[in-house]
Amino acid sequence: MTVTDAPTEGNIPGIEAQVARRRTFAIISHPDAGKTTLTEKLLLFGGAIQLAGQVRARGERRRTRSDWMAIERDRGISVVTSVMTFEYDGRVFNLLDTPGHEDFSEDTYRTLTAVDSAVMVIDAAKGIEDRTRKLFEVCRLRDIPIVTFINKMDRETRDPFEVLDEIEKTLALDTAPITWPIGGGRDFLGTYDLADRTVRLMNASGDDHTDTITDAELDGVLESRHLGHIREELELARDGCHPFDLEAFRAGSLTPVFWGSALRNFGIKDLLDGLAAFAPPPRDQAADTRLVHATEDKMTAFVFKIQANMDPNHRDRIAFVRLCSGKLSRGMKAKHVRSAKTMSLHTPQFFFAQERQLADEAYAGDVVGIPNHGTLRIGDTLTEGETITFVGVPSFAPEILRRVRLEDAMKAKKLKQALQELAEEGVVQVFRPVDGSPALVGFVGALQLDVLQNRLAAEYGLTVGFEPSQYSLARWVAADTPRDLDEFLAANRSATADDVDGDPVLLSTSTYALNYVRDKWPKHRFTAIKEVQ
Ligand code: GDP
Repeated sequence: MTVTDAPTEGNIPGIEAQVARRRTFAIISHPDAGKTTLTEKLLLFGGAIQLAGQVRARGERRRTRSDWMAIERDRGISVVTSVMTFEYDGRVFNLLDTPGHEDFSEDTYRTLTAVDSAVMVIDAAKGIEDRTRKLFEVCRLRDIPIVTFINKMDRETRDPFEVLDEIEKTLALDTAPITWPIGGGRDFLGTYDLADRTVRLMNASGDDHTDTITDAELDGVLESRHLGHIREELELARDGCHPFDLEAFRAGSLTPVFWGSALRNFGIKDLLDGLAAFAPPPRDQAADTRLVHATEDKMTAFVFKIQANMDPNHRDRIAFVRLCSGKLSRGMKAKHVRSAKTMSLHTPQFFFAQERQLADEAYAGDVVGIPNHGTLRIGDTLTEGETITFVGVPSFAPEILRRVRLEDAMKAKKLKQALQELAEEGVVQVFRPVDGSPALVGFVGALQLDVLQNRLAAEYGLTVGFEPSQYSLARWVAADTPRDLDEFLAANRSATADDVDGDPVLLSTSTYALNYVRDKWPKHRFTAIKEVQ
């Protein structure tokens, strides 16, 4: 397949070329491993920004203008998931940012439904940490290929073989080092390319890979630094490690490994070259009735995230939409499958770090923001007329259930409306008990309570508190036939509720109580994850 920068207008070859050059990915890591630093450096290489540091700086400027995001600022975390697009080596990279904080895992998981590959950043001294493992498991569920970057090689590190061994054992993922670190910590000299046996030395200014020397020249360098033992390590790595296997990588069972230092700007280019060479172009996407190929000429897309108040000057909601096929053109009409209505895409937007720009055209793999006033919900599908629904965007059972206490009881109706809107946006989950008792709100992480409280106050003028609920667990209920489901719901009326889409949910007071119901209704399924169908 040829890759061209100037696709033919409107026809299929143009689309094929556009799809072939796209790489849509996310970074998964444990907080502090270096995701932000690496993001900055990737954008810097991609020419998307002039100065490293702008990702953070822009974020801060925006935050000071935004009310409810004060929480973000206070806690020093990023709640916003955004997308950054940059070009490198003729490829268009869409980097979908995932919030680093544990509490916003639901958003993070949904973002992973919109990527084709992921970069796993590991701190060389710490190895696999808790959150990396969790995010990896989500990637594995979808067979998302993983490229590994082992960061902070300029600091004291663990033995490289030990780090690889840990990846293999804890994640059951084969590792194929593409480069190998020459030393570590104060002795980190650079990397050795195991395939072409060239050596990249980190120079004092921290520019990436400006000094490339040959294998033969390395001996002198090692000797002068009393690092002769590294030669043996390189031989061992070359002979003992898995060779890279594109098929195994694409299937999600093997990860190519790069080493470097995001802070020192070292190893970034290797990583980008690796992504450009190995990472898959936009994948085919499963819809309810068929598989949609990225190179089909009709536009299809799904919403994986809703963000309100991206810009306080426009009090709009942005639906983040992942294109799955065809071409999205500004001004085109699209079918919103859930409502069967047509909507005009007048102002689709691209995001560059925190900047936005009108998107004239977009292709499979691209993410565009579509401003709307609540029409678009998470999991919704857009097409050029076909009735299909993409599957697989998940909702997660809440870990925390609360009742909302409203200060001014006269505003109950307004609260109901506000909760509905915020639930559609994915800020909170709302469960309305079928016996008519007051709604429960559900959260995946504790920080979401603060976000909800702040947004209800700032956007709806509602002062609320939270009260404990007798229930601590919620599970979506499914049965093989509608009759089986009705039978269950009739027998368990006092402990069932409807979620925001009207799907039935069982509320339980404890794991014990849940297991009791499970034993009693063995044919029914009680799930902690609901995939938007
Ligand atoms: P995040 O929480 O994963 O986004 O991590 P950050 O990018 O904010 O990095 C966490 C800390 O580690 C910051 O103080 C960074 O300056 C530092 N850091 C990131 N990469 C490196 C690296 O390669 N070497 C060293 N020595 N420090 C790094």
